[in-house]
Amino acid sequence: MVSITVFAKHAATAAMCLLLCGCTTNELGTKNTHPKSREFFAMDTYMTMKAYGDGAEKALNAAEFRILDLEGELSVTDNDSEISALNNADGEPVTVSDDVAVILRKAREIGNKTGGAMDITLYPIVKEWGFTTGDYHIPSAETLSGLLENVDYSRVDISGNAVTLPADFQVDTGALAKGYASDEAIRLFRENGVDSGIVSLGGNVMALGAKPDGSDWRVSVVDPFAPDTDMCILGIRDKAVITSGNYERYFIGEDGKLYCHIIDSSTGCPAESGLVSVTVIGECGLECDALSTALFVLGYEDAVGYWREYGGFDMILVTDDEKIFYTSGIADSFTNVSDMNAEVIS
Ligand code: FAD
Ligand code: MG
Repeated sequence: MVSITVFAKHAATAAMCLLLCGCTTNELGTKNTHPKSREFFAMDTYMTMKAYGDGAEKALNAAEFRILDLEGELSVTDNDSEISALNNADGEPVTVSDDVAVILRKAREIGNKTGGAMDITLYPIVKEWGFTTGDYHIPSAETLSGLLENVDYSRVDISGNAVTLPADFQVDTGALAKGYASDEAIRLFRENGVDSGIVSLGGNVMALGAKPDGSDWRVSVVDPFAPDTDMCILGIRDKAVITSGNYERYFIGEDGKLYCHIIDSSTGCPAESGLVSVTVIGECGLECDALSTALFVLGYEDAVGYWREYGGFDMILVTDDEKIFYTSGIADSFTNVSDMNAEVIS
């Protein structure tokens, strides 16, 4: 079947925008309040980074280099990447870098804790729907059930840095790799003496410290029903803010339905959980990225259940009937700028 409308996140603006406030005054008397900034394209998305302080230029160079290096390790479309080596290993073990091992372990952990809502072995199904190839179409039920036989995150064997996939299995870390990249960028900011900065990797935002004037970084989350508009503003410091939404990469099928790029491993079809956007706010970008995707698949009840059981993060859930729910930990820093009703989950 031929799709009639296609939207990809990289062609639109980022899912989240930094409210970049020009820091021309310096209330705290910091030496250098003029940021250095960097924009580049990597991991199929626009990335922007901003750092303050004497080490800013060095920090930005190191972070950009690191992100490009990670892309080389992780890209499924690069035949020389470690992920491609794994996907073509035909059941043999592959020795991977610490980066890949850390990401695969986190994917398995979140897979275990979400009953498989996070499943990186869905890659052949993501491909079949056309989300990585651009050949968007609705696969037949037979095709999906055949492909689902080779989907099961728990069969990714990780022993130290040796990883073995069953033959015919393929993985993609796209659901959580940008979160890891943001952790690494911020680590390199710190290592280079930067204590105030912010990165937005295709809308995956992570802030280091406060703004040089001592105030919070202000990050907006877009309205999933009007992706050119802000839905809410958050004040953050030392936190990641990562969103998964059904508006980021999707197509409208001939049946008029919206098919988004986040797949439910129990059906092999785009998740229809009643959520249209999930934003996770926490200290670890890798974890927030993994959770934003997995909680999207789980839906409202199970996402709240997960948050109650494990905690350690905040979240903003938007339902398909246009309601916003957010956890109590961000109540003081959350400003609703949409027409939707926003309610606190406690
Ligand atoms: P997220 O919600 O964080 O992730 C959704 C993505 O995860 C989906 O697009 C799918 O790939 C995968 N996924 C879907 N459902 C699940 C699930 N239940 N469990 C686990 N994973 C799931 N895109 C291109 O089109 N071309 C490229 O060349 C390309 N190169 C990339 C290289 C790297 C290193 C990375 C990290 C990404 C690249 N991408 C590329 C983008 C990638 O394919 C995803 O579209 C993107 O990472 C989605 O991120 P997100 O934040 O929008 O959504
Ligand atoms: Mg994610």
